[in-house]
Amino acid sequence: MKDLIIIGAGPGGLAASIYGIRAGLDLQVIEKFSPGGQVMNTYEVENYPGFVEPVAGWELMSKMEEQARRLGVEIENGEVSSIHKDADRNLFVIRLTNNRVLEARTAIITTGAAFKKLDVPGEKEFTGRGVSYCATCDGAFFRDKVTAVVGGGDTALEEAIFLTRFAGKVYIIHRRDSFRGSKILQDRLLANEKIIPIYDSVVESINGDMKVVNLSLLNKKTGGKSNLDVDGVFIFVGYTPNSQFLPDELLNEWGEVKVDMQMRTAVTGLFAAGDIRSESKRQIVMAAADGATAAMNAYDYITDLP
Ligand code: NAP
Repeated sequence: MKDLIIIGAGPGGLAASIYGIRAGLDLQVIEKFSPGGQVMNTYEVENYPGFVEPVAGWELMSKMEEQARRLGVEIENGEVSSIHKDADRNLFVIRLTNNRVLEARTAIITTGAAFKKLDVPGEKEFTGRGVSYCATCDGAFFRDKVTAVVGGGDTALEEAIFLTRFAGKVYIIHRRDSFRGSKILQDRLLANEKIIPIYDSVVESINGDMKVVNLSLLNKKTGGKSNLDVDGVFIFVGYTPNSQFLPDELLNEWGEVKVDMQMRTAVTGLFAAGDIRSESKRQIVMAAADGATAAMNAYDYITDLP
């Protein structure tokens, strides 16, 4: 039996493992794919402290993984299918899809979230070269440029407004004739002179050569097709927390794990950190901070066990 099992090896999980192992915990990390999480698909990261020049997403995460492994962290490849607390033995039972069963005194869930994709030609090809899912991360690369945001929810509205700090012009392309996002954000968006809404329209393809050059649009009401010249496109059509293996009582209405400021979930001894947790700002530095918080509290929890 382990002291701590960390589910997920993105920035939250790796930071938790670094803090946990340095606190002397006997721990193990379980990762479904390869370590690094969503950041592995991020072209450049410019807002993670400690790097003077932008660092490639894969490089940042490789360094975190290397740091964890140097300290002795073991990362096992596996997909968790369930986790439950055995109240009689006061420990967590974690089942993997390959039928392996692990036990630990405490556990941290850091399985992240996946941004929904448009699934149109060019989206994958130009990710990191004009296609982005994070305005906070990439907005500054588009100073005085023309960008488009796709989506009509709170995230799309908020991020379009945020992008006007940099971009000269921000189109917001929505598939219906009214936004889904809150009234206050809609009012702010529509009052912003840099933002141009394009309603009833979908992106059919993202086109370019080395980077994004334009978008092929279809107006769903008129059937009219057009090309829109842009330097970048930010896609905010929702996201899915990777929480399918968790019981409903741990989750909020959006499928995120509810936590308090100490990253404690509703189950004593179980923690969550990073993009999977409620009210996350979905930033690398914050996921890492969450992971550290969770690991320190996991340590305190174990120390206080009878
Ligand atoms: P969301 O509310 O689910 O909105 C997704 C948007 O993307 C919708 O407008 C949807 O169009 C559109 N969409 C979905 N699939 C699409 C596709 N394939 N092509 C084109 N458009 C597509 O997601 P979200 O904005 O990320 O927000 C998630 C949750 O977090 C929401 O409950 C939101 O209120 C909350 N949130 C709150 C705040 C805040 O309070 N400040 C900030 C951010 C997020 P339709 O409208 O036609 O379905």
